[in-house]
Formats: sequence, C-alpha cells, structure tokens
Amino acid sequence: MNYEAVIGLEVHVHLKTRTKAFCGCSTEFGQEPNSQVCPVCLGFPGSLPVLNKVALEYAIKVGLALNCAVQEFTKFDRKHYYYPDLPKNYQISQYDLPISKDGFLDIYLESGVKRIRIKRAHLEEDAGKLIHEQAGSLVDFNRTGIPLLEIVSEPDINSPQEAYEYLTSLKSIIQYLGVSDCDMEKGSLRCDANISIRPKGTSGLGTKAELKNMNSFKGVKDALTYEIERQTVMANNAETITQETRLWDTRELKTIVMRTKEEAKDYRYFPDPDLPPFIISKEKISEIKKTLPELPREKMLRFIKDYALSEYDAKILVLSKKDADYAEECLKVYKSKDKKAMVNWLIGPLLAEANIRNRGLSDLGVLAGDLADLIGFVERQEISNLSAKSVLAQMIITRKPAAVIIKDKNLIQISDASSLEGIVEEVIKENPKSASDYRAGKDNALMFLVGQVMKKSQGKANPKVVQDMLKGRLK
Ligand SMILES: [Zn+2]
Repeated sequence: MNYEAVIGLEVHVHLKTRTKAFCGCSTEFGQEPNSQVCPVCLGFPGSLPVLNKVALEYAIKVGLALNCAVQEFTKFDRKHYYYPDLPKNYQISQYDLPISKDGFLDIYLESGVKRIRIKRAHLEEDAGKLIHEQAGSLVDFNRTGIPLLEIVSEPDINSPQEAYEYLTSLKSIIQYLGVSDCDMEKGSLRCDANISIRPKGTSGLGTKAELKNMNSFKGVKDALTYEIERQTVMANNAETITQETRLWDTRELKTIVMRTKEEAKDYRYFPDPDLPPFIISKEKISEIKKTLPELPREKMLRFIKDYALSEYDAKILVLSKKDADYAEECLKVYKSKDKKAMVNWLIGPLLAEANIRNRGLSDLGVLAGDLADLIGFVERQEISNLSAKSVLAQMIITRKPAAVIIKDKNLIQISDASSLEGIVEEVIKENPKSASDYRAGKDNALMFLVGQVMKKSQGKANPKVVQDMLKGRLK
C-alpha cells in the first residue's frame, strides 16, 4: 500500500532577552556553570516569579509575524514533572490560553506555495543542562528559566523536505525579528517532530511517534525519512505502531525508543498562582505590530519587483537579513539596469566562497563597490571569468580591492588579435586533426583549440577573440 507522512513540528526558540523569563539572572551563553542563578530560578520556597516584559513583547512579535491571533487575555500554568535540572518540579508554561494561536506560515516548494497552519505559540521557561560523566552527573542551572517560545504547527507537513523548508522559513522570520539567534549548536533553537503515516488519499490520523534529539535541520530531515520507512515497513507487516517518544541516534542514524508518550493529563497542569493573568490591550498589540521589520516574504516580493529578480534568486538572497541587506547594497551600487550579472555573482561564486567558510555573504569582507568593480572588469572583457573568480578569492583573503589584485597579478586579458596571432598559428599547426575535424563540421574541435590557446597564453587570452580568430583561419 502507498502511505503518506503526516508531520507536525514543535519548535523551541530561546528569546534573546538580557535576563531570564521570571527573574533578573543573566542569560549570557558560555559562562561559568551555576554562576547565573538566584532563589527564583532555583525554585527556593517563598521566591516569586515576575514576568520579563521584553520576553512577552518578543513572543507577541513572533505571533504577529506568523499571522497568529494574539490573545488579549493570557495566563501561565504549571506543568509538573520531575527533572533534576528544573528544581521547582514544575515548569512555568502555558496550557489552555497560549499567548497566540491560529496562524500560518507559507513555504515555497518546487510545486508552488504551501500553507502550514500554526496551532499555537506559547511562552515557557527552559530547563538547565545535565552533563553526564563517568564519576556521575553534573547539573548547570544557568539555562534554567531562560525564556522559550514553543511554536507548534498543525500536522500539515507531508514530507521531510517540507519539514526542512518550514524550519528554514521559520528560522529566517525569527532572525529578521531579532528576537533570537536561532543557533542550534548553542541550543537556542530546538525541534521535536510528531510523525505518523496513513494510506495515501485518506484523511484520518495514525498513531504518532514523537522524535527528539535532532540537532540540525538536516538531522530532522534524516530522522523523519528513517521514521517514515520504519512505520511503513511495520504497517505493511500488519504490526501495531505504538505511541512513543523516540530519540534520533546521530551515530547509528536511526530512531530508538526513549519512553512511551505521556498525555497532557499526566502533567497535572494548573494555573500558576504566583503569576497573575495578563491582559494585553489591542492598542499594545497594534503598537508592537508597527515595529515589525520587513519580513523575508515581503522582502522577496520587493526584490522581484524592484530588481527584476527571479523568485528562485530572490528566495536565496532574503534567507538571512544581514545577507539580504548586503545583497541589496550590491544591487544598488551595480549601475547596470539589468541586475542579472550581479545576482549571478552573489548566488554563484560569492555564495560558494561563503559556504566553504561556513559564513554569510556579508561576512566575507567584500565591499559592495568592490564586487561591482570586479564584475566591471569581466564585462569590459579585461579579465576572464575564470581569473575573476580567483581575484574574488584573493579579495576575501587579502581584503584588497579588485583593481589592485588584477594589477599585482598581471591578469589583464590579451584582447589584441595581433598579440595572439603567433599562439593561434602554433596551436593550429600542432593540432592538425582538430583543425580538420572543425572544417569537417565538428564544432567541439573548435572549443578544444580555444582551450589550447588559453593554456599557452596562461589563461590571459580573451577566449571570445581567440574563437573569432580560429574561425577566421579555419574557414
Ligand atoms: Zn534567577
């Protein structure tokens, strides 16, 4: 039988506030263990939590950016469980009245735009960190109480690729808002997935597994792919799929059972008596709405309109706000009306250099004006495309402008036919078979001869001029 996957994602993001969600402790990453703690986040009896106003505003921003209805009345609840790194024995979270709900996020697929509904986004506090060593386990409470926003999608995602696109778009929006750095390595963005399968074309929901411990978007994709296969094999063998939480094993590349899944009732939620309900006025919400920046989708549409970019190119350029700002600066200083050449340089050689270094386009130290200058050299046929790429690499390493590197390395192309004549004649003489092949109608032979001339000129001949010269002589 043919099955389709039904996937819902739960994403936790650290909100980048200076202090924790309910106390004044610092949230700075990488400090001495247990140096950022106080009676509130350590759960001492008699201590009282006070909500961080900025965390609330950040949560509202994300809700609005995800097209959610931000609730005017919201409250916090206690979610009970015993964890050594959350010493209150409950987590302050939101149960039935989350701060925002009923939103959506549009993702771009090869088949078109798909809308993924957002069920809810609620504020809660993070737990600490356990470090397991041979001699025993250690606990660091620095992370305990850092504000987390949990964003829960509806099960509208039907493939690992869609999950990947959803996460990429979500991360991009949150980074644009400036409310989280979304760094998965530091744990400031984490993702759990609910996944079940059903016969294709049906609408019911199968028994789901919850996947945890996926440390990258690729990990999410791989874990989902594995789990779809596992459940499909079980269904085809008429085995019963049980509801459980499974861990993604990054070494074995498979999911393993962690525990059978608890139900909401197991957590014994009840309203936290230490925190009053919060009333957020319509005015406050619209005030926050006015502070939202241009978001990736709006920026993408504007790039398409203002610079005549394709949707594909625009989508790549707007992914990170910093890179989008840099790209726009490049497009502006590049004076040609048709921006295609600049776009090709941005998403071609420059992006390749950025990827090698695991950096963004804007982090390479190439000034917009210098990149435009480099493209000018190519367009005036003063240097070849190939040398231009090596000049770009040198620009990144040395931080020197294109013109200086081109002069230092003596890269200006030879476009003057009389200077090339000798080499062209030589190459024809040395390759009589290719010459006669070309005369016999084999166009590939010409490209071979051009290549030989390029080689002899140490890459400095203008290939267009060489091609014309060879054609003239081989008529
Ligand atoms: Zn504290």
